[in-house]
Amino acid sequence: MKTRDKKSAAAADEKATFTFMSRDTISRREFLAVSAAVGVTMLLPGGLSAAVHGKKTFTILHTNDMHSSFIGMGPSSDYTPFSLNDDSTRGGYARLATLIAERREARKGQGPVLVLDAGDYSMGTAFAAASRETGGELELMTHMGYDATTFGNHEFDLGPDGLGRSIGVAAKAGRIPAVVASNTDFAKQDATLGDLQRLAKDGAIRRYVVIERGGIRFGIFGVLGKETQIYTGGAGAVTFSDAIETAKEMVKVLRETEKVDVVIALSHGGVRKGQDGRFSEGDDVRVADVPGVDIVIGGHSHTELQEAIMVNGRAPLVQTGLESRNLGELVMSLDGGKIAVQSYGLYPINDSIAGEIDKLKKLPPPGTVDQGSVATGAGKDGVREIKEWQAIMDHLHSLPVKNPGELPVIPVDERAAEVRAIKAS
Ligand SMILES: [Zn+2]
Repeated sequence: MKTRDKKSAAAADEKATFTFMSRDTISRREFLAVSAAVGVTMLLPGGLSAAVHGKKTFTILHTNDMHSSFIGMGPSSDYTPFSLNDDSTRGGYARLATLIAERREARKGQGPVLVLDAGDYSMGTAFAAASRETGGELELMTHMGYDATTFGNHEFDLGPDGLGRSIGVAAKAGRIPAVVASNTDFAKQDATLGDLQRLAKDGAIRRYVVIERGGIRFGIFGVLGKETQIYTGGAGAVTFSDAIETAKEMVKVLRETEKVDVVIALSHGGVRKGQDGRFSEGDDVRVADVPGVDIVIGGHSHTELQEAIMVNGRAPLVQTGLESRNLGELVMSLDGGKIAVQSYGLYPINDSIAGEIDKLKKLPPPGTVDQGSVATGAGKDGVREIKEWQAIMDHLHSLPVKNPGELPVIPVDERAAEVRAIKAS
């Protein structure tokens, strides 16, 4: 989200705030399928590049603009993820981890499941101050099962060297989600770009990623929109090319060279309502308008879309709001040359979801935590939150990576081609 425009964002989120209030009456298991989006079918331009035989379905779980929201946030600081129905905070990674695991389990019998994020995963809470040292955002996303994310404008707040350090430290700790940055250019000779260039060489940052899962080849690219680029004040020597031209180029590469079945854009560009009162403007809409883009996971405008926007009546564009308040679930079908939305909805992340980490239950109650043991001047609640975060990190570190067979397999030569592509851009 752009920082200069918080008021209009708050206005845009009015509907979201209203929806939050209804959490007691809506079970999160009562999936909010969107009838308007169901059964929309279209032909892919030029037909499918690779053969998908018979009807298949797949599921995309997604977020955007999480802004380092490790703990749930609300009007009062009463986030208690391990006792149910007694706080009004929204979000928090312990709950998000539970929900992603539940939905993956629920959907895996109906085809492959992807977990994607559309950028601005960092900055926004005190935890972000330690991103360069911990790489905590990407590391936690890894353990929650994210396959890919992209850069939002706020990823550059600590400068390109700070961004490089944060990704580097996360990558060093283990596998991280693919960071797809298709229109971000950091090939210039500049001391601040060294880490980003190294990460590109290692394949941690790439122009696109191909994930073959459940017999379907998914091509995923990531763009930072034109309007969003205005807010990348910390980008320094990094430059951005046009998001729409890049999207066209990525479609060509993914369809013609990579022979993917489905093209997905992670687009940090935002949506806006046009004069007709519909979400018909913004860079995410323009990306969805590019022929050959099948699905757009949007971000930046902090818009909680209860229904998928069907751009040109064919490409679903989805967004979940901000700060891990919701998890989006988009179910698609693929049948020969036809791709169609089966259902779409948001799962609110609130105190009806138990954080999955037993370890935190063993923490001493607020006020009794040894404040001297952490280097912070925060009040007693702040100390407890930092302890919770540490325990979450410790716990997630100890988890085995689930279903290693489902991880994207990227041959070394293919990775080298992507590195060349990054250098050439
Ligand atoms: Zn943004």
